[in-house]
Amino acid sequence: KSDQIFHSLQRIAEERGVQDDVQIIKTGCFGFCEKGPIVKILPDESFSVDVKAEDAADIIDEHIIKGRSVSRLMLKDSERKRHLETEDDITFYQKQMRIVLRNCGVINPEDITEYIAREGYAALEKVLFEMSDDDVIAELKKSGLRGRGGAGFPTWMKWNFTKSIKHEADEVFVVCNADEGDPGAYMDRSTIEGDPHSVMEAMMIAGYTCGANVGYVYIRAEYPLAIKRLQHAMAQAREYGLLGKNILGSDFDFDIEIRLGAGAFVCGEETALLASIEGERGTPRPRPPFPAVKGLWGKPTVINNVETWANIPMIILRGGEWFSRIGTKSSPGTKVFALTGKINNSGLIEVPMGTTLREIIYDIGGGIPGGKAFKAVQTGGPSGGVITAEHLDTEIDFDNLTALGSMMGSGGMIVMDEDDCIIDVTKFYLEFSVEESCGKCAPCRIGGRKMFDILEKITSGKGEMEDIDRLQAIAVSMQKASLCGLGQTAANPVVSTLKYFRDEYLAHINDKR
Ligand code: SF4
Repeated sequence: KSDQIFHSLQRIAEERGVQDDVQIIKTGCFGFCEKGPIVKILPDESFSVDVKAEDAADIIDEHIIKGRSVSRLMLKDSERKRHLETEDDITFYQKQMRIVLRNCGVINPEDITEYIAREGYAALEKVLFEMSDDDVIAELKKSGLRGRGGAGFPTWMKWNFTKSIKHEADEVFVVCNADEGDPGAYMDRSTIEGDPHSVMEAMMIAGYTCGANVGYVYIRAEYPLAIKRLQHAMAQAREYGLLGKNILGSDFDFDIEIRLGAGAFVCGEETALLASIEGERGTPRPRPPFPAVKGLWGKPTVINNVETWANIPMIILRGGEWFSRIGTKSSPGTKVFALTGKINNSGLIEVPMGTTLREIIYDIGGGIPGGKAFKAVQTGGPSGGVITAEHLDTEIDFDNLTALGSMMGSGGMIVMDEDDCIIDVTKFYLEFSVEESCGKCAPCRIGGRKMFDILEKITSGKGEMEDIDRLQAIAVSMQKASLCGLGQTAANPVVSTLKYFRDEYLAHINDKR
């Protein structure tokens, strides 16, 4: 649809002879998936949602030629009501704060000059010519940035482990984990599609700080547009002396290679991802040693996910102090969530940490369709748990979600309403983890399957009271004895729904339904 609109706008502009007066560009995602496709007209900031190819003539004739904002004209049209004025008029955007997604929907991701015009590569320049490796680490430490891939480990510490041994290693690597696999999550894809240079710039900053000259982006093969944009961005960066030898005239060399993942969820686990880059079967390795010390081909390796990387240039430019003032004390900054499920405004959102779930679901998300009651939200994908209505005023951050028995994960947020059977949803997540288990260790390989069979038994009306205890016992074994995060967290949806929705389990067992 967006392509059709793009071509219609181009065609009409040519037919009207104004093709040289207007620049029509494709951007990355605006985030407001529910109301796409979106057309934004600059410099007016006029923002139009639900645009169709046939609206192209209106936009060119009224806005571009006659200088009358299409948004305003369309607002008078009581039937169509799909054109709004600017993003600020839309509640979906009002509580958001864009640091990671700062350029998505703003720049043409295929034009490096647009990235540069918005301070792109200024952080790299600052690091190369004004900062030492210690300065970079100190700034990251001040920022309090925690890894956005799931566990929330302090980023400065990871980098510092590698930096402190870089002189002992003959080679150091930097890796971007773009193997996004959670059901319902698409934050990393959109970030790379909309702003590939921000990730590349951050990898170069890590390369300079930690002594790496090569970086790998491990990205799902199922993300063809993100891969294309990344390849294009790399080619342009080389042309501009921003990738390759003597970057910006300095003595720092850095290049990036892309490695495609083949769809195994477990390859998002960092040791499995590194094994996959090495050409081995993508299965996790015991830790320690941690990748920061012994990673790719046994060399020190800094590995972060896309969202973590995209924060780095802004931290360097604005300072760690600035970043630390956003969000909560223990989780500074913002978090990107893919808000999906039973929600009016589904989409990609970025909010300061500390925003409440109620604000996300009702103010940004516009509430539950059809006036239905909110039941729960699953955060953290198959590794997370449910958060119920009584916790809607919880301020979202790493620690608060963990305290509720869920987790931040990479940022999937799936909303359920009163009609959803909580055990069906739990079964869905568990089935996903069972399918994606690599089978290397028994607690995960056998425990997950056993739990799934018990859930099947319960939902088919054959459950027994003892099954509740069995589920809990297996969950503990999986959490304690599985080799990697996939198995250690796979039981979380079961544990969390048993805690908050035990009545539903009992109802299935007692009513034999
Ligand atoms: Fe593989 Fe599961 Fe063991 Fe991880 S926990 S190594 S996914 S079997």
